Amino acid sequence: EASTAPTAADVLHSVFGFDSFRGEQQAIVDQVIAGGDAVVLMPTGGGKSLCYQVPSLVRDGTGIVVSPLIALMQDQVDALLAVGVRAAFLNSTQDAVERDRVEQAYLAGQLDLLYVAPERLSSEATKRFLANGKIALFAIDEAHCVSQWGHDFRPDYLALGELAERWPDVPRIALTATATDATHREITERLHLQNAAHFVASFDRPNIQYRIVPKNEPRKQLVDFISKEGAGEAGIVYALSRNTVEKTAAHLQANGIHALPYHAGLDASVRQKTQARFLREDGIVIVATIAFGMGIDKPDVRFVAHIDLPKSVEGYYQETGRAGRDGEPSIAWLAYGLQDVVQQRRMIDESPGDLAHRRRMSAHLDAMLALCETVECRRTNLLSYFGQPSEPCGNCDTCLDPPQVWDGTIPAQKLLST
Ligand code: ADP
Ligand code: MG
Ligand code: ZN
Repeated sequence: EASTAPTAADVLHSVFGFDSFRGEQQAIVDQVIAGGDAVVLMPTGGGKSLCYQVPSLVRDGTGIVVSPLIALMQDQVDALLAVGVRAAFLNSTQDAVERDRVEQAYLAGQLDLLYVAPERLSSEATKRFLANGKIALFAIDEAHCVSQWGHDFRPDYLALGELAERWPDVPRIALTATATDATHREITERLHLQNAAHFVASFDRPNIQYRIVPKNEPRKQLVDFISKEGAGEAGIVYALSRNTVEKTAAHLQANGIHALPYHAGLDASVRQKTQARFLREDGIVIVATIAFGMGIDKPDVRFVAHIDLPKSVEGYYQETGRAGRDGEPSIAWLAYGLQDVVQQRRMIDESPGDLAHRRRMSAHLDAMLALCETVECRRTNLLSYFGQPSEPCGNCDTCLDPPQVWDGTIPAQKLLST
């Protein structure tokens, strides 16, 4: 029937309830609605989802969204259903009856958005099925998963390049919060996005203060830090092992801090409850492995603390990026010790991957060490890793309290001149 399509602004207001687009959202949305491809590099919390959700509602047909995490799909679909968007997903958690219901809805043109796991979309059966319906666009979320260099590589993403040949007239938008030049190039090449428009947002998070302290008694240091600067506030503490997570959570509790552990070894129901409490209640500190946080959208997280060295700058940036999404001052605190370096080097040496894989892990670690050991602005170091030049920020630990650089040449000269 002849209904006029809503405009992007209509959808933004009436469906999502927002006044205006943020940053580059408008330009991205316009590009995709017009049928063009886009590569979007935008930090976590920047608002990537709207960049494909709005065009899916404006364009004819269903927006097909590739998303790597089943738990995230469920959350996104629930959020969309809550505002009246006709959304569904296809993944391995469904039984045949549910799957069939979703497939019929798609074929009948009753879905605005359909989330699909990457392994499904790379299968020929799924592609044949999709070809029987009308596709508004393909959105490839967490597109850095296509990068073998990255910390999140998923082989199924490699097959997504074929969508370009199969559906040359359907616009494709790839989105990620990981934005090194190398990853950017890999996304463009491997997803066949040579004709795409590129949108690179600033990765600076000016309200986050970066601090890296020497690690000696991490649990005590952490209690001191939280008591002094994060008392009663929501925060996340990251540790590398489940054991450290449990011990640290117990230690914080013993010191009167409302801490809860979170790691993949806990029951799904316990994890869900912990996550829900963190979102709804005030002042909870989650102590977690990196299993926690993808897709968590809590605006008022006041600090993110690392008591173990992250394995990559990308990981560190993503984890610390969960602080201060509301734009209010927040702290990224990391305790850094040589013991961690030794341990991670050993893990790399003993890791089962091939030599190239070990080299990559080693390069990731080196970049992380460079950030920890810099005597210059932490923010500048971090942004330059993402290919974005910047002036010293005046707000990180090294800007506020420049480390004494011991210049060995002066005593040496004195010695020689006597
Ligand atoms: P990303 O995927 O880039 O990490 P999301 O798409 O999850 O970010 O968006 C982060 C948060 O910002 C969400 O709560 C979202 O509703 C909000 N948001 C995004 N765009 C806008 C906008 N134009 N106006 C107001 N809030 C927005
Ligand atoms: Mg996202
Ligand atoms: Zn600085």
